[in-house]
Amino acid sequence: MKSRHIFCAVLAMAMSAGAASAAPYRPYTDVETALANAESQYPALCKRVNLGISVQGRTLWALCISNNVNVQSDEPEVCLISTMHGDEPVGTENLLNLITLLTTQYNIDSRVTNIVNSVELWIVPVMNPDGYMAATRENSNGIDLNRNFPDPFTSPNNTTAGREMETAAIMNWRFGHHFSLGANFHTGALVVNYPFDGNPNGQSVFTPSPDEDMFVALSEQYSQHNGPMWASPTFFHGITNGAEWYTITGGMQDWAYLYMGCNEVTIELNNVKTPPANQLPQLWLDNRDSLLTYVEQSLTGVRGLVTDQVTSAPLNATVSVVGRAHNVFTDPAVGDYHRMVTPGTYTLRFDAAGKESRQIPDVAVNTGAATRLDVSLSGPARVTSPNGGESLIAGQPTTVAWSGHPAAQFQVQYTLDANSQSTVNEGFESGFLDPAFTTGGASNWFLVNIPTHTGTRSARAGIISHGQTSWMKRTFAGPGTASFWYRVSSESGHDYFNFYVDGSQVIHQAGTVAFTSYSTPLLASGSHELKWEYVKDGANSVGADTVWVDDLQIVTDNATWADVGPLTSIGATSLAWTPASATSAARVRVRAFYDGTLYGAYDWSDSSFPVVAVPTGGDMNCDGSFNAADVGPFIVALTDPSGYGTTYPGCPILHGDMDANGLVDGADVEGFVDLLYGTP
Ligand SMILES: [Zn+2]
Repeated sequence: MKSRHIFCAVLAMAMSAGAASAAPYRPYTDVETALANAESQYPALCKRVNLGISVQGRTLWALCISNNVNVQSDEPEVCLISTMHGDEPVGTENLLNLITLLTTQYNIDSRVTNIVNSVELWIVPVMNPDGYMAATRENSNGIDLNRNFPDPFTSPNNTTAGREMETAAIMNWRFGHHFSLGANFHTGALVVNYPFDGNPNGQSVFTPSPDEDMFVALSEQYSQHNGPMWASPTFFHGITNGAEWYTITGGMQDWAYLYMGCNEVTIELNNVKTPPANQLPQLWLDNRDSLLTYVEQSLTGVRGLVTDQVTSAPLNATVSVVGRAHNVFTDPAVGDYHRMVTPGTYTLRFDAAGKESRQIPDVAVNTGAATRLDVSLSGPARVTSPNGGESLIAGQPTTVAWSGHPAAQFQVQYTLDANSQSTVNEGFESGFLDPAFTTGGASNWFLVNIPTHTGTRSARAGIISHGQTSWMKRTFAGPGTASFWYRVSSESGHDYFNFYVDGSQVIHQAGTVAFTSYSTPLLASGSHELKWEYVKDGANSVGADTVWVDDLQIVTDNATWADVGPLTSIGATSLAWTPASATSAARVRVRAFYDGTLYGAYDWSDSSFPVVAVPTGGDMNCDGSFNAADVGPFIVALTDPSGYGTTYPGCPILHGDMDANGLVDGADVEGFVDLLYGTP
């Protein structure tokens, strides 16, 4: 049990004092034999996995039960772990009985068959075999394994370093899986204990998780099928919030929930830790339906596959319910996720590296089988045409085409001044700090002659002492690019140059740094803030004890963008567009709009292109009139287009594009002749 109740403490002392006589119900070797027999008798249903060894060298075993036990499939993974406290062995017997039930009744009992066919169930009958054999709570190093896991409240360090061998073995095994549901079994009380066990202030008070409603419902699914537990005089309906009972740190349950996305509870099976063996059959009957019901809960809520829209490959994705600060993760081998929630209507969010996020509203969840929601994700939409290299004609309809997610709508925009930019070059050469900068802290930035990157001046941090800061800021309008050079001479590891873009630190350096360039694109429109800062810690000054900044360049993109049309229909891949006027640099861009909620990113991978004026009917020598003198240059345009540009520089070859298809070719001859001599 996890309790520190006086009653329990007395009992534990009694157990400890009588440890020599408190033998387990069967030796651990018999537990191992039972698992080996299950695997050999039911090789299609059972697979034994060696998780590692205990301090005294006993093997930790897990048994996987599933109809496709050797294949990763779209099934929730569930883990049931018993006897991490060695002197609490009832769960071991129950889990061995569960293995027998699931194997012998498969294809006989429909409920058993459904569980084996629908769930990948993993069972660890004994997590602490040394303690089990010695009838001690702790492992053979005297460590309580249920205080030995990473604790998100007190030591958020999700690694196995420095942990007990049994804890590390369980952690490494669980790192390789994506368990949706778990339970760990104890004795010493009769209750289902659900997260959180931990409390941020270490207090034993009600400490709900973001899934409090789900955990209450889940816990009651177990307790309501266990008569004595449901009728508990101590715990209403036989369940409790862990920290409300009493808080602990380093428990497996909170670790599983917060770090692994696994809904896990701690189930106390009997008030007496090691009841007489003749009570075991009744304790199995009390818990049999509870166990089956509990495992079946992994099939509720929302489930589905998250795949790559282009390749259909499974994705390593994070799945969350908007408004609940708790993530679950797909199994990257298959892409399946299983998010347990109580019945209701939810917005689900899907995120994966390199893919655009989706946020799908109005997902209805009912009691019983999980709602299925398969989702595909893709990278940003891409303009495929025009994306550079084309020459469009003003006033002539063309088509903007793109690739993107077929479930998205698209916002398509154009600009006719793609290369319009304004540039600020600030070399600090004017001799004073431009009022566009603000500076402050313990001392203001100022200009110096040495060192500089170029020219005769640079800006440097104000002269400050220990524990002080000097900063300089400047804002500019995006989208655009900012770049500058910086140099540092300070106490390594202590006195830092920091640079922030819109409040986010992007440079953090100390020690000796020669002039170094930095550049950042700022794609969002609107104001951006650049902030340079020198911060000294509590002691010591090394080198020049400052930082310098020089040759700041800010390029603002002044292109004005307008919609080609309204937001497209779902899955559209092209849109008609007529560029209104000629320009040397037009550009189009596209972004996806998903599920009525989220915009993706604009595609910036394409290039600008020219839009040329409407061809002026056949004036091939640009002398302002159309006559027989244009015949010669028209023939040059047809036969030697590059030679035309040399002979008639600045005269658009498209003056010969009589059918206005953007090309001067044989199809224009008839129009040219008709215009010159009149249509016959
Ligand atoms: Zn326990």
